[in-house]
Amino acid sequence: MKAARLHGYDQDLKGDDFLRLEDVPEPSIEEPGEVLVRVGGAGLCRTDLHIIQGLWDDALVVDPPYILGHENAGWVQEVGSAVRHVRRGDAVLVLPGLSDGVCPACRRGTDNLCESLVWIGIQRDGGFADLLKARERNMIPLPEGMEPNAVAPYVDAGLTAYHAAKRAARLVEPNGTVVVIGVGGLGHVGIQALRALSPVRILAVEISETARGLAKDLGVDEVIDGSQSPVERVQELTRGAGADAVLDFVAEGDVPGQAMAMLRAGGAYLVVGYGGRLDIPTMEFLTEKQVIGNVGGTSAEMVELLGLAEQGKVRLETTQYPLERINEAIGDLRDLQIRGRAVIVP
Ligand code: ZN
Ligand code: ZN
Repeated sequence: MKAARLHGYDQDLKGDDFLRLEDVPEPSIEEPGEVLVRVGGAGLCRTDLHIIQGLWDDALVVDPPYILGHENAGWVQEVGSAVRHVRRGDAVLVLPGLSDGVCPACRRGTDNLCESLVWIGIQRDGGFADLLKARERNMIPLPEGMEPNAVAPYVDAGLTAYHAAKRAARLVEPNGTVVVIGVGGLGHVGIQALRALSPVRILAVEISETARGLAKDLGVDEVIDGSQSPVERVQELTRGAGADAVLDFVAEGDVPGQAMAMLRAGGAYLVVGYGGRLDIPTMEFLTEKQVIGNVGGTSAEMVELLGLAEQGKVRLETTQYPLERINEAIGDLRDLQIRGRAVIVP
């Protein structure tokens, strides 16, 4: 089958042949709970850029070359003998986390924090290919009428954004203000999820003009150019008080410092993106500001988000690229040229 594999790292993302398109052997069922999926679409994520830069090197469970792509949807091709709840031909979303279902974190319902979690397409072969192997636990059957290539980003960009937006909605009073930094693949879902969950005022901060256009179309209360003193702008718009929460889908460069400076005393900084550093004097916490980490979302939240999508309360904005043009898509993501989420279609 055709697959896009990572052979080596490119720390500064200066190249243009990040992944190599090649013919590789098809995966096969080896354990009774496994499922083979014919990939319909695979979202491209900033994590793919981070992997190409080498940030995940210590966490891999296979040696390169291997297939990236952790945001997958498609049709069930073959199932192991113990698989009961999906059949050949079913349209499915494929949750990226291989969780065990039995550790204390899974028992609490927080399978995004599973003690033995392994990420498909990050730490081992993923879906930038014709076929993908996962387990029955990863399969979320798609409602009628949802096409895999149109909805693949829900399993990562969507779920991660929904998880963080739900936490923000619980922390902030209905008349509060939430700043959303980054209106890309995650941010555009985060804004809609927040809208569906709470009447808070939403201020969107974004450096890319393309993405600022998307923020406007989503009807946020104010769109702020991230390259034009965003901290001062947020302070102005909150009459000097600061925001109740910042949802940071970027968290690279000087963004974490800006996010903390946008918060009111007692406000919450929800970190979703990664790659940068947060370096602040601990005295800052005498204001009772909180910093909250986020990773993925739970299986239950996946079903909640699909419900919102079915009701039309959340919609995905995608730009599709055939698998052959994956390196062009990666370059466009690096250059902030993508509206919504890029989806790779084999
Ligand atoms: Zn991702
Ligand atoms: Zn577990």
